[in-house]
Order: sequence, then structure tokens, then C-alpha cells
Amino acid sequence: MPRVVYVNGQYVPYTQAHIHVEDRGFQFADGVYEVIGCVHGHMADETGHLDRLERSLSELQMDMPVSRETLRFLMRECLRRNGLANAGIYIQITRGQAKRDFKFPAGTSQSLVIIVSPFDFDGNLGVANGVRVKTLEDIRWKRRDVKSVALLPQVLAKQDAIDSGVDDAWMVDGDGYVTEGSASNAWIITKDGTLVTRPVSYDILRGVTRTAIEKICRENDLQLEERLFTPKEAYEANEAFTSSATALITPVIEIDGHKIGDGKPGKMAHRLYEEYRAYVDGLRGKQVHWESGL
Ligand code: PLP
Repeated sequence: MPRVVYVNGQYVPYTQAHIHVEDRGFQFADGVYEVIGCVHGHMADETGHLDRLERSLSELQMDMPVSRETLRFLMRECLRRNGLANAGIYIQITRGQAKRDFKFPAGTSQSLVIIVSPFDFDGNLGVANGVRVKTLEDIRWKRRDVKSVALLPQVLAKQDAIDSGVDDAWMVDGDGYVTEGSASNAWIITKDGTLVTRPVSYDILRGVTRTAIEKICRENDLQLEERLFTPKEAYEANEAFTSSATALITPVIEIDGHKIGDGKPGKMAHRLYEEYRAYVDGLRGKQVHWESGL
């Protein structure tokens, strides 16, 4: 089945899809994105991702280019046309094409692109075996709560990790506290079984998966503390994991060369993963709304 993507009102073959050279996403990173997992035909946390998309847009003084209903339809149509039930759905919205000028252009229509890519949620080796991470300085801008397409610091962080022979990077702020992963939220589980993750602020992207984990914690009487933690505290934790739309809940088995727990994926991360999968499969509870919390 030839691959098809949605670009500004049309479904086009992947090999012919293009965006104008003066699209503001290309020249200024003047746009936002979302990634939604479609797991066995279920849109994982679609409600929350669309809530966050609207909020990211509004923070940049942009509207949704189409209604939520239309966007929901377009995503499903992309999946249908590509014959996919397990996929990562990438939505990108920019301020559109205009002559290069820093100020917002007048009368320009926004660009909307939807790309669906096959994703094997069941065969995710990171989830099964855990991943190794290194910490490095968080060099991003001050509005990390906006899911902006300006991802260069994360690109550099990820490459630094790969060049160092590990799988991913956890970024650390100027005061020495972990912010988040290059494309995920960072979690540790203390010796007494408390889940710890950084409080919501402009310093991190509040994950939609994170929001679902908060709900799972409430429903399963698991202790959750939103507070700062250092890499050192993480080295000594019982378990660590990351959360995101495609990696779901991925155990972290090593940080900066320190084995976490016994160096194998932890039991609690596994339990949370199972709970999250059941929730995504529609077996437990309804999808939760996402709020910025700011
Ligand atoms: N933090 C950052 C920097 C991210 O890029 C992502 C996902 O891409 C997340 C957190 C996790 O967000 P979500 O769970 O909504 O995918």
C-alpha cells in the first residue's frame, strides 16, 4: 500500500509531499506539534493530546486550523489510507507560508501536516529490556510547556546520548535537578515505593501520558510526589522510567553508568505499563482531559 500523508487539505503520496520554502515552521520553527499513538486501533489519549495541541497553539496566539472533529476525522482517514492500526500519528501546525519577516504575517493560512508511521507497540525493545540514559545540561528555552517544533536542544541531547553509547538523555537544570527526557517525562520510584516526577511548570512539557499515570496512581492508591529530584537521587532509586506517547512507560535501568535497582526493568514500571495499556485498550476508565496546570 503506497504511503500517503495529509498536507494542507490534500492526501498526497509520501514521496511527493512538500511544504513551501517560506513556511514559517521551516524558517522560524513557528509552529507546534503533537504525537498520538494508535495502539491496536485505539487512539491513545487522543482527548488529552488535542487539549494540549489547542493550548500550545493558543500560547503562540494561533487557532486550530480546522475543528477538533475535522482533525479527528483526518487522523483516522490517514490511518485508513495507510492501512495502519498501530502507528504514531504526527500532527504539525505552523503559522503558514509568508515572506520572511519576524512579525506575524497578516492573512496567511496555517499549514497542517499529518504523517502516520507504523509503530510496533507490542515489540518495543525499550519497554521489554529497559533503556540506559545519561544526564546532561538542559539548554532549552524558558517555555518548555509549549510543544514547539523548535527541538534542536533535544536533537543534540539525543545524539550526545547515542554518541556516548547509551539510549537517551535526561536533562538537568541550572540548579542540578532533572527536568525531563529528550522526548519524555522522567520518573523515579523511591525505596518506599513513591513515584516522583518534576512538578508542572514552564520547565517541562506536561506529558499526556504523565497525566494518565497520575490517574492510574490515584485509582491504585500509589503514592505520587511531584517534586524536584537530582541525578544522585535517581542513581539511588529503586526504579526509574520515562513516559511518552510512543514509548509509553519505558524502564530506565542505568543512569550515568549507575545501575538502577538490580539493573533490570522494575516491577512497578511493569505494573504501570500494564495498567496504562489496559487504559489505552479501553478496558479501564475513560480518556482523561489534559490541563496545563499553569
Ligand atoms: N517531555 C518532552 C520534552 C517530550 O518531547 C514529550 C513527548 O514528546 C514528553 C515530555 C511526553 O509527553 P507525552 O506523554 O504527551 O507524549
